[in-house]
Order: sequence, then structure tokens, then C-alpha cells
Amino acid sequence: MAHGPAAIVDACEAALCEVRSQVGAEIRDAIVGIGISSPGPLDPWSGVVVQPPNLGPDFVNVPIGSELSCRLGLPAFLERDTNVAALGEMAFGAARDCADFLYLTVSTGVGGAIVIDGRILHGPDGTAGELGHMPVSMEGVCGCGGVGHLEAFLGGAAMARYARAAAAEGSSPFLAARAVQKGSAAVEARDIAEGEDAGDLACHAIMERGRRAFAVACVGFVDALNPTRIVVGGAISDAQGDRLLGPARAEVAATAFKTPRSRVQIVRAELGADVGLAGGHPLVIARLGDPAWRGGRANPPSANG
Ligand SMILES: [Zn+2]
Repeated sequence: MAHGPAAIVDACEAALCEVRSQVGAEIRDAIVGIGISSPGPLDPWSGVVVQPPNLGPDFVNVPIGSELSCRLGLPAFLERDTNVAALGEMAFGAARDCADFLYLTVSTGVGGAIVIDGRILHGPDGTAGELGHMPVSMEGVCGCGGVGHLEAFLGGAAMARYARAAAAEGSSPFLAARAVQKGSAAVEARDIAEGEDAGDLACHAIMERGRRAFAVACVGFVDALNPTRIVVGGAISDAQGDRLLGPARAEVAATAFKTPRSRVQIVRAELGADVGLAGGHPLVIARLGDPAWRGGRANPPSANG
């Protein structure tokens, strides 16, 4: 099977052409652009995917935006998956009629997006909004190599690491049994949640630490950014629901600044796994109407090399 960046671009082109050929002429003629949701880091102005950690060693500086734009003869707009999800939730989901909100997705990792005045906050390099890498501690190594990040406690991959350690050192009978049953490498966040429900103390401690990290992070988000809503999606959040969001609401109510805490609502995302598709439309519409997104944006070089 073909792989690497060229194969991915080819597959995107094939899928888009197929869909375009299947819809009626009325819809086909109304297609005005392509919205692309991709893992970061990426440069949304030039449409280049820089080097996502999970797409393989060859996936470096891939100009997927210009490639697809040329091949389909339409303007194409690239955006980080979490930012696209935020646009989707703003147009069709839990952030409808909301111009100032944060989006978090809690699954293998913890992703984020910041929307201010109805627009994604990018920063000069397009990297802003990585809320999962907000420090909540001065200990605990994150998958990104940083220390004390929210993802180091709440992300599924991080929790699975703690679970394997607990199984190996014998502090969790439940996880030790799961490791024997399915193999240590296959133990995941779902097993820890099930262990907690079964009364396993080590599983409870791992889950509780994740919920605590999330609650503390939310206080920081509220105090720093005064969001109207914090919209939370992703597999772990969807499974935990109010068990995750409840303690965050309580912590914000107890310790965040009085004015922003009285406004903010911490709510579940509404669009589920299709949120990337839902966000493609508002992404294209917003970018087409904004001249800053045509032909890239020349940012001054970073002073730190
Ligand atoms: Zn990190």
C-alpha cells in the first residue's frame, strides 16, 4: 500500500473528486472552496503541514493546501483540527451564538482552540491555542517533552503510561489483570475508567488526578481569558461527562475570579467525531471573505532563530 505525504494528498484528491462527481450540478456549482482539517503544527496562511507527530517521519513541510487547490481548481484553506472543531461547534454545536470561548478535546492527547470575538486566536505563527500543554504542575513529563502539562495527567496516552506502571508494580489488581488479558501495551484510558468503577484504588487515583488537573487548568483558562464557554469534546470527555466537567465547574466556582466565573459555562461538545466535517464549511466561508487569507501572510521572523 502506498504511504507518505504524496499518498495522503492523492487520497484526499480522489475522495474530493468522487464526492464532487456524485452530487448534482446545482450543488457542484455552489462549491466555492476546500476546508482542510489536519493535526498540527501547521502554517494556516501558507497551507503547509509542518510536522505532525503521528503522521510518520516523511510528513515534513507538506504544502497540502496549494496541492489540493491546484488539483481541484478551488481555493483551499488549511487549519489545525482543533481550530476547525471549534469553528464547527461555533456554527452548529455547543458554542452557537458564542463569540468568546475555548474548545478542548480530551482523548489520546488534549487539544485546544481559543476563539476571541468570533475568530480563532492564531498568534504570529499559527500555533496558539494548545491548551493541553498548559502547565498545571511542576512535575510530570508530557508526551511533548514539556513538564507538568495538562495532557501529562489527563491525556489517554499519559494515563495509559501510569496504568502500565501501576500494573507492573502491583498496586492495581484490576490493571494487572487487564494487562494479562489484553497485553500491557493495549491497556488504555477506558480500562482505567472501568477499573475505577470496579473499585480499584489505583485506577481511581489516576482518574482523579486527571479530573483534578482539568479543574485546575480551567481556573487558569477562566482567569486568563474570560471565556463565555469552555466546550469540551473528545472520547475521554464524552465517556466521563459530568464526572469530568462537574469538578471543573466546582473548582472554577470556588477559586476563579468572581466576574469571569459568574459568566463561564463549562459544557460538553455537541458534534462528536464528525466535528471536523462540520467545521469545514464555516472555515471556508470565514476565510473566503477575509483578504488576509489569500496569498499567505508574511510574518516577521522570530527573534530567537
Ligand atoms: Zn505537553
